Amino acid sequence: MIKLAMFDTKPYDKEGFSAHAEEYGIEIKYLEPRLTEDTAGLAEGFDAVCVFVNDTVSAPVVERLAALGVRMVALRCSGFNNVDCKAARGKLFVSRVPAYSPYAVAEHAAALLLTLVRRTHKAYIRTRDFNFSLSGLTGFDLHGKTVGVVGTGRIGRAFIDICRGFGMRVLAHDLFPSDGIDYVNLDRLLSESDVISLHCPLTKETYHMIDSAAIGRMKQGVYIVNTSRGALIDAEDLLDGIKSGRIGGACLDVYEEEAEFFFEDNSDAIMPDDVLARLLSMPNVLISSHQAFLTREALSNIAQTTLQNVNEFFRKGERPNAVCDSCGRNCG
Ligand code: NAD
Repeated sequence: MIKLAMFDTKPYDKEGFSAHAEEYGIEIKYLEPRLTEDTAGLAEGFDAVCVFVNDTVSAPVVERLAALGVRMVALRCSGFNNVDCKAARGKLFVSRVPAYSPYAVAEHAAALLLTLVRRTHKAYIRTRDFNFSLSGLTGFDLHGKTVGVVGTGRIGRAFIDICRGFGMRVLAHDLFPSDGIDYVNLDRLLSESDVISLHCPLTKETYHMIDSAAIGRMKQGVYIVNTSRGALIDAEDLLDGIKSGRIGGACLDVYEEEAEFFFEDNSDAIMPDDVLARLLSMPNVLISSHQAFLTREALSNIAQTTLQNVNEFFRKGERPNAVCDSCGRNCG
């Protein structure tokens, strides 16, 4: 049996992984703590660790895991900005799940956008209180509007298909253009779009790509959708853009400082993050807690691909779905 320590385990992780672990001959220890320098010691005696978006695989964590005899980090997500890939090179094999259901994320982005544009989150609360007033619920048609999609990989392309179904004009920006999509430079995308949706990875180049300068180039009343990674947006600048009215709406499934709060019930605590608290107080901001991936199909695919990655590395000596630290793409 290959021994795998899974950090930051939630009940929905266990369901998917337990259903498939036996067929791959992998014994899984489900651990609740996140992987950090302090918790890395829990991996002692394991061949591999399995981590999620807010676990930390920094250089010191890599050193500690390697010293404990761990040989692999199996990400059960697609983004790998939380991994110091250079530090891991030659010490730990790092795999990810490049595609588990781009539709899950693209559909969630569309759900957030439709909700905020048509105020259905407010209607739901009103009608449950027998308040059937429509005042303040006026939205706008997406049909005929321009959507700017940054990053046209698997999720970006699925989102484009949805937007085309709504009758939107699609502009896109990517370092590696695909056929059949109208690409423009980032400046033009920012200045012509009524809705901007981010689907590129978080890298040194994309960090805070949406800041006050970028917001200043956008149309008045633009809607921003971010289901990718929080730090693509400078959250303080976003807040200023909302306060000034430049930004008409923000749909966020991710937040720059989410690691401290997301995935946990903080309802009894005082929110120490003033920017997050202020964003949440805005009528035109809709935040979900990094749940875009959370569909039955995605969870099953995540579990199967992660376990396959582990199996093929240890039993066949292969390097499936390796992360690449030089170009930021999945180089297999
Ligand atoms: P992908 O690798 O298929 O596509 C990413 C695209 O971004 C690629 O086409 C790439 O060329 C492009 N890109 C890279 N750098 C860029 C830049 N500087 N400017 C413009 N484009 C750039 O990835 P994907 O599966 O479509 O996922 C996209 C992102 O979605 C992931 O990086 C991850 O952060 C995020 N994600 C979020 C969730 C969630 O639950 N919220 C789930 C899965 C993935």
